[in-house]
This record gives sequence, C-alpha cells and structure tokens, in this order.
Amino acid sequence: MHDFVIRPPNMSEHKVAAFFATRQMPDDRKVLASYAGIGPQSVYLPIQKHTDIVQIIESDLTPHIADAVVTHRAGLLIGVKTADCVPVLLYDEKRRVVGAVHAGWRSSAQAILTKALAVFTDRFYSNPVDILIAFGPAICSDCYEVGSEVIEGVVKATGPGDYVSKRGSKYHIDLRAANRLQALVFGIPAAKIWMSAECTCCRPEKYYSYRYAKGTTGRLYSMIAQKQ
Ligand SMILES: [Zn+2]
Repeated sequence: MHDFVIRPPNMSEHKVAAFFATRQMPDDRKVLASYAGIGPQSVYLPIQKHTDIVQIIESDLTPHIADAVVTHRAGLLIGVKTADCVPVLLYDEKRRVVGAVHAGWRSSAQAILTKALAVFTDRFYSNPVDILIAFGPAICSDCYEVGSEVIEGVVKATGPGDYVSKRGSKYHIDLRAANRLQALVFGIPAAKIWMSAECTCCRPEKYYSYRYAKGTTGRLYSMIAQKQ
C-alpha cells in the first residue's frame, strides 16, 4: 500500500495524515481517503485555475475555484493535483490547521504560498515558527526552461535568489526553491521545511509530468488531513 505514496518525514510523528501520491495511485477518492484513514465523503479538491485564491473550508464541500485550501476541520482530507507544478502541504499542530497549495509559476508569481501562510497567521493565529511545510515532487530546474515573463513574475513575488539560472540565452527556474524562499521570508524556520528531491519530469515512470508528456497527462494527488 505504501508504494503509491511518499509521506513527508517532518509530518510523520504528528496527528496528521499527509502524503504525495505517485502515478500508481488510482484516480479514486475512496482509495485516497483510505490512505488517510477517513471516509470518501470527507475529501475536498478545489477547481484549480492557476490563481492566488486561498479557500478556507468549513462545512461546505461544493468545489470552488482555488489553488490553495486551508481547514481546521479534523477528519477532512484536502488536497491539490499537479503534474510538474509544486505541491505544498502545510500543518500547524498547535493551532490544528492544515493546508494544501498548488504552486505553478502563475500562482507562484502571485505569491500563493505566502497568501496561504497569511491565512494561517491572520485567520487561525498561527505562529510561523510552528508551521511545518512539505514540498512534493515537482519539475526540477534542469527540466524547466522558461521565458523571461516567468522569471520576472516569480522574482517580483519572491525576491531575488539562486533559484534562477541562465544557460546560454535560456532561463531555467527552480520553482520549488522559489516557494521555499517565500516560506523562509515569511518566517518559517528552515528546520520545519522538508523538500522532496525528486523531479516529475526526470522520473516519468513514477510521476506524471506535463512537460515530459507534452501536455496530455494525469495528475498527482497531494493530500493532508488532521486525524480525528
Ligand atoms: Zn528534472
């Protein structure tokens, strides 16, 4: 059963079920829910549109447009779907809040992770030093050649850093590292952050990759729930 998922080690000792699924995971809510030990009726996935919208889930599970989801409800499995974009899971054990973020370049350029963290602190009174963050498998810098509009947008939202490289006339970006920098700037301690080293595009047998498949592909599930 464990072959289908990667469980972030920084969340394994806590009262939370968190995982990044590989492409072997069936596209089935019942199976997803079983990995978290909850019922299939308590699964929420937003309608992702590369926005900066952070949705707070209380009791209404009707899908809305959002690229980040935050909830304090125990027993509710929330998540995002990706194929190269950066999946991020968030957990504050003290304030009992979880979050899931879909950080593609457009959302990263709108600081979606920073905005999700701001919901933790503003709405749920989290202290940034208590928030655990896990970054799942995503496209690596080598595989991710991008246009100047991507660099400009992400740097504007993130600040300068070594996540950008220029190779000849081509730009490359490490989107996972850019989002990690957004978290550090927000005040999350480096020791609270775990980052998968795996690239979706370098490992197409294990993950779905939009770029490797040149468009048509499945999606990877990244899910988190507080245990009841
Ligand atoms: Zn790669």
